Amino acid sequence: MDNPLTKEQISEIKRIQALTGEDQAHEWEKFVKTLSKEQHEFLFKKQETGDKCFFCELIKGDLKKYIVYEDAKVLAILDINPANVGHTLVIPKEHFSSSHEVKDVGYYFNIANAIVKNIKEKLKSDSNILVMNGENAGQKGNHFMIHVIPREKDDNVNVTWDKRNMEEKDLEETKNLLKIIVEEKKPEKIIIQTEKRERRVP
Ligand SMILES: [Zn+2]
Repeated sequence: MDNPLTKEQISEIKRIQALTGEDQAHEWEKFVKTLSKEQHEFLFKKQETGDKCFFCELIKGDLKKYIVYEDAKVLAILDINPANVGHTLVIPKEHFSSSHEVKDVGYYFNIANAIVKNIKEKLKSDSNILVMNGENAGQKGNHFMIHVIPREKDDNVNVTWDKRNMEEKDLEETKNLLKIIVEEKKPEKIIIQTEKRERRVP
């Protein structure tokens, strides 16, 4: 695939990558909106094939200033354009695109849960945990992250949809299509270890 980005766009990317913190995030968001579908696909495909991911770069950069939690595997930071005050992003330091690709995904959800607890106790708020997998699901970049969004009554944050009516046969067909089949495994050999104790000489 030829590079569909113009020279101007490539130098714009370089300019944005040289920025720091909030400026960088704002400029990047503006820039992404100017891309055609083809350019967008190219840019995010490029990230998937192992070239530098913009979010990986952000994690290493100045975005680190609003840290809620950090360890060797994860960074949890305040979203600089939150849906509500306290909106936090849980971002693995390793690059993964989609939740199904994340190694030990439970680790990150445990961190998200700690944030949920914090939001409940300190902000007295309810919350949503959200993951966007792919562009059609609203994922902005190509780096998996978990959003934890504090919720208030009538706060105008919309996590809602119109309910569809489904025929029973369509539900049945969909269930058959999506059904997860677990291969039966032979039970592993159970080794019972006995504790060796030195016999005390009286
Ligand atoms: Zn990344």
